[in-house]
Amino acid sequence: MPNEVKLPGKAEIIIIGGGIVGCSIAYHLASKKIKNVVLVEQDNWPEPGGSTSHASDFIFPIDHSELMANLSQYGVEFYSNLKFNGKPCYEMVGGIELARTENRLRELRRKVESGKSWGIDAELISVEEAQEAFPFLDKDPIRGAMWTPTAGVATRSTDAAQAMVQEAKRCGSLQLFDNTEVLDVIVEDNKVCGVHTSRGFIQSNLVISAAGVWGPLIGKMAGISIPLAPMHHQLVHTGNVPELEGAKSQIEWPVLRDQDRSMYVRQEFDTWEIGSYNHPPMITDANDIQPQDETKYSPTMMPFTPEHFEVAMASIIEVMPILEHAPFQFGFN
Ligand SMILES: Cc1cc2nc3c(=O)[nH]c(=O)nc-3n(C[C@H](O)[C@H](O)[C@H](O)COP(=O)(O)OP(=O)(O)OC[C@H]3O[C@@H](n4cnc5c(N)ncnc54)[C@H](O)[C@@H]3O)c2cc1C
Repeated sequence: MPNEVKLPGKAEIIIIGGGIVGCSIAYHLASKKIKNVVLVEQDNWPEPGGSTSHASDFIFPIDHSELMANLSQYGVEFYSNLKFNGKPCYEMVGGIELARTENRLRELRRKVESGKSWGIDAELISVEEAQEAFPFLDKDPIRGAMWTPTAGVATRSTDAAQAMVQEAKRCGSLQLFDNTEVLDVIVEDNKVCGVHTSRGFIQSNLVISAAGVWGPLIGKMAGISIPLAPMHHQLVHTGNVPELEGAKSQIEWPVLRDQDRSMYVRQEFDTWEIGSYNHPPMITDANDIQPQDETKYSPTMMPFTPEHFEVAMASIIEVMPILEHAPFQFGFN
């Protein structure tokens, strides 16, 4: 659908990108009463082609970095209070991080202590307690686990993004233009002065790039080198499984993390989502990402390479044997 509203010639702040980060920036600027913020998104919004639309959406609040832990905990509280269509944007189902080795158990012990000192609840639990919380586990490969009660899932992150944009618009702070691609960032005397878009020029002295994996391309437009590269991360959705039959909501069981194998599993109604970094590094050049209308699902969903998932699948079956019988429905890199 062509966007009929005329682009403003000037903005206090321009945000490039309408994923979860751009929408969150818009919300938080509105909460600081900043007016005349313009968000430009190259794709159809609210389902643009960035990572946000197909993320697993979970939050494990404790990290070894205090900054990251505080940010994650803020996310837990923020999404719990944010509502989209009257429903909270966060399901606090809890999270289990497994330890397959004594070293991992020591690491989890450190995490529990860090969490406590930063005011985030967590505890080490026995193998039996882990199995009680998540009965699909096999006890044999596990030495223990960490239980984080406030871990959970943003349901869904695109709903949260819409809720934030609605609020920023309600405050009279934000105008959002989708199908509007930033083609160039204009810098004069080392100062940004605006962006050229597919629908015209917008003048501004403050431009925020929230362009996700396209970030290096936006940086290049502004003459800045951003040394980041988009990395593949495999995600597989199973078909319906009997153990989750009758699920009443998107997620009822805790999210499972198996850091010893760089993997995670979460429920999605009566299916499982299995995420894996347990494969050789695969990089895509940001220049090679196709436009939204030229891709089947999303520009950032690359074709699934099953050969990179074999080892991962065998690993996760060790701790969740029930997955051996789960039908493969869909996967992507
Ligand atoms: C399979 C998978 C699972 C994940 N699971 C989780 C998880 O469970 N928990 C978690 O916290 N994170 C998860 N992530 C990571 C998370 O999805 C990302 O960190 C997050 O979505 C990034 O949001 P973003 O707004 O920065 O980027 P994006 O969502 O990619 O948004 C960037 C936007 O910028 C727009 N854009 C780019 N260039 C331009 C331009 N020139 N002009 C205008 N617009 C432009 C794009 O169209 C896009 O909409 C996962 C990621 C993947 C791939």
